[in-house]
Amino acid sequence: MAKYTVKCEECGKDYGITLYGKMSKREYQLENNSWVCEQCKISETVEKAKGSDLEGTPKQIVWAESIRKKILSEEEDLLDMALEEHKEAIRNILKKIKSNKKSSYWIDNRYCDLETMITEEYAKNKKKPTTASLGREAVNETNRYLHIYKRRMK
Ligand SMILES: [Zn+2]
Repeated sequence: MAKYTVKCEECGKDYGITLYGKMSKREYQLENNSWVCEQCKISETVEKAKGSDLEGTPKQIVWAESIRKKILSEEEDLLDMALEEHKEAIRNILKKIKSNKKSSYWIDNRYCDLETMITEEYAKNKKKPTTASLGREAVNETNRYLHIYKRRMK
């Protein structure tokens, strides 16, 4: 372990870091890593979070954004595999999932895939079949679709 001073690539200020491991590894890191000081990292995060429609602290927002992006990247494939008559119901559930602007919602679902989230959303609605945006029929259709989808994946 040793302390070094490096120059921040963003603001040009020198700041202290601690590196661990073998001398050769530390030297390699000093040469090749990109060094950005804590202050610049924070303002970078704040800057990134500004463009987002999610709610939460800047750190949460940036994290949640990347999770949401990953999860929603499955959207097209999922819809492609759905039967034509089920697509409308799936889209309704998707709309509901996508309307969730809380960072914590996406962070909590970081180990989920979109299919799981649709199933969970379906389960929630099952308890409240009167939900206007999602009638019972749509829910049943979605459930049937998910059954078919799972079978195809095997
Ligand atoms: Zn800096």
